[in-house]
Amino acid sequence: MKNSTPASIENIKEKQLIFFKDFKTQDVKIRIQHLKKLKRVLEEREESLFEALYQDLKKPVFESFTSELLMVQKELDLHIKNIKEWAAPKRVSGSLINFPSQDYILSEPYGTVLLISPWNYPFQLAMIPLIGAIAAGNTAVLKPSESAPHTAQIIEEIVSEVFPPEWAIVIQGDEKVGAALLKTQWDYIFYTGSTAVGKIVAKAAAEFLTPTTLELGGKSPCIVDGTAPIQKTARRIVWGKFLNCGQTCIAPDYVLVQKEYKNALVAAMIEEIEKAFGKNAKNSKDYGRIIHQKHFKKLEKDLDKQKLLFGGEKDKDELYFGPTLVEEPALDSSLLVDEIFGPILPVLSYTTESNIDFILTKLKNPLAFYLFSTNRSFINTMIQRYSFGGGVINDAIIHFTNDKLPFGGIGNSGMGAYHGKHSFEVFTHAKPVVKRSFWFDLPQRYAPYPKSLKALKFLLKKI
Ligand code: NAD
Repeated sequence: MKNSTPASIENIKEKQLIFFKDFKTQDVKIRIQHLKKLKRVLEEREESLFEALYQDLKKPVFESFTSELLMVQKELDLHIKNIKEWAAPKRVSGSLINFPSQDYILSEPYGTVLLISPWNYPFQLAMIPLIGAIAAGNTAVLKPSESAPHTAQIIEEIVSEVFPPEWAIVIQGDEKVGAALLKTQWDYIFYTGSTAVGKIVAKAAAEFLTPTTLELGGKSPCIVDGTAPIQKTARRIVWGKFLNCGQTCIAPDYVLVQKEYKNALVAAMIEEIEKAFGKNAKNSKDYGRIIHQKHFKKLEKDLDKQKLLFGGEKDKDELYFGPTLVEEPALDSSLLVDEIFGPILPVLSYTTESNIDFILTKLKNPLAFYLFSTNRSFINTMIQRYSFGGGVINDAIIHFTNDKLPFGGIGNSGMGAYHGKHSFEVFTHAKPVVKRSFWFDLPQRYAPYPKSLKALKFLLKKI
């Protein structure tokens, strides 16, 4: 855990601040050059990255490519292509009251940025914020998750090959290192992880009034009514839930299905699980593992005294936890209180919209919201009634892959959003400037003010 003592953290921060104040990050061409270099190094390190992700999470190469590397590559391409335009000053029309003036908005980088990332998609959840921070002209200190150490190591190697440490550096370590990093004053903090730690980050940031983005978790519902085609619905839910062994922040956390279709949906989900991973998912090369024993134990405890509809097989030594469906857990059981973040899918049923409302009001502000239905008025009601980070109708997870959509939470599931241009904007202060000339002044603006407002009101109507 080199570089992780408070003194060395402060030292790194000071060096980054000097680098930033020297305008070393201001030249857009140099930012682009470094992002291009990052792209090249990623191509060279592809194999070792896949190996690291396998070591950490037994991620199948297909998933490592599609849900980690490809997302980062797409983000890099988009930024390389657009930074020049995004970073350019934007002219806006002036206010006639200030006539004549030139009004514009400058894209100002915040300065020194701290990024803290989790273990479940340990590569892309560290690299995509890093790309945004660098593209916008900031320096960055990145702390990847200690729970995915092989990936953290590759990230450190890649970042140190591409950037001088005064511009971007990786500091590895656990929550103690995270806590030490939060004692330093940064110009922006971007945190991805649990809601509990998010609160710690927000408190630490408040001490310095540091702006933050918090990308947190939550209980994402998956509502299914009787108008949705059952088999396709089941297939998409199963895919979204058991991807990365359920350890996806936007995985469907629980299913809420119209009562009379519950049995059919459960049967279809079991069929789809077996189609995807065979009769025994343990033997499937496409089924991952739980990150570590602590999380395994949490999931094991979640299943305590629950009635299973399917699955429940486990192997602690191999961190294998099979795809599992649970019958209507009690509303106060851990399965329906805390985020599950694993391959356990509770299946609840509803009869009326007020049944849905009861649960969604209790588990409000999820990170994602999934609705399977072809009933337009039901869809519109649900989408408008509930507040959520991002939603998908008739599928799961996929909103994450469109970089034109802002990705983030609301309330308990976080604040702020990123991806694509939104990442550039997250790490940019939109700095408005008005440049006036000296040749004209509205005399009425100065005291002594006119006795009547008549002339001013007449003028305001005209502009
Ligand atoms: P975590 O909160 O335990 O850890 C995340 C990061 O915070 C790690 O780097 C960790 O070392 C650091 N950390 C832990 N305690 C800290 C402290 N006291 N001070 C400073 N840093 C500290 O989360 P996790 O277990 O790695 O990830 C799982 C959680 O992340 C789930 O709740 C999941 O929903 C959420 N998540 C959210 C998103 C999103 O985009 N919204 C994405 C992935 C995961």
